[in-house]
Amino acid sequence: MPADRLPSPERVLVVAAHPDDIEFGAAGTVARWVDEGAQVRYLLATRGDKGSDDGTIDPEALAVRREAEQRSAAAELGVAGVDFLGEPDGQVEPSLRLRERITYAVRRFQPEIVMGHDPTVLFVNNEWVNHPDHRALGLVTVDAVFPTARDPLNFPEHLRDGLDPWKVAELFLWSTNEANQIVDIGDTLDRKVAALRCHESQFRSFAETERWVRRTAEELGERAGYRAAEGFRRVMLAR
Ligand SMILES: [Zn+2]
Repeated sequence: MPADRLPSPERVLVVAAHPDDIEFGAAGTVARWVDEGAQVRYLLATRGDKGSDDGTIDPEALAVRREAEQRSAAAELGVAGVDFLGEPDGQVEPSLRLRERITYAVRRFQPEIVMGHDPTVLFVNNEWVNHPDHRALGLVTVDAVFPTARDPLNFPEHLRDGLDPWKVAELFLWSTNEANQIVDIGDTLDRKVAALRCHESQFRSFAETERWVRRTAEELGERAGYRAAEGFRRVMLAR
């Protein structure tokens, strides 16, 4: 086991609200798992159709562009697949309907680890407000994992579709104020940046974003003795 005690899963499902969330939050860790031979899939709640400061842009054209950017970013790391739920950007709610959709994805893919937004965070490091879609989707992801996907009487129609109940072993939640897992991404920081760069529609000056991402990763890494790091709230559900 590596010094940061990162587990070696076979399958990881990453559930995010918008294109680019995974690249900011988790791509360095995803790259490590892919390198080890893990199968990683992304599940995006929205296509990012509100992600522009240009009020005249066509939201559908923006969504098409951002979906393609997300697929390129995933391909950059060797991610096995990307699915979009097509929820409206900016209006994600922790509904039972959405919980059912995420539960279905968990039962179908059977990941040992699910990564997502930490739903408890309203202010990230007192530096910015956590997007309401992040909070809502984080909550519904945790609820889908535990106990919904685990217990067979929840959404029994899935079982009639041939799916089985599924116990996720661990949650890894990003943009957290309470990181208890610091992951060494010294060897994958460049690929995290390369994946982030795919989201061209989101950056007026990528150089500035790149400097910020590298500095943040390096500062966190310094605290643990790594060249660069990502931090997660890691919750062990099954041992
Ligand atoms: Zn987002």
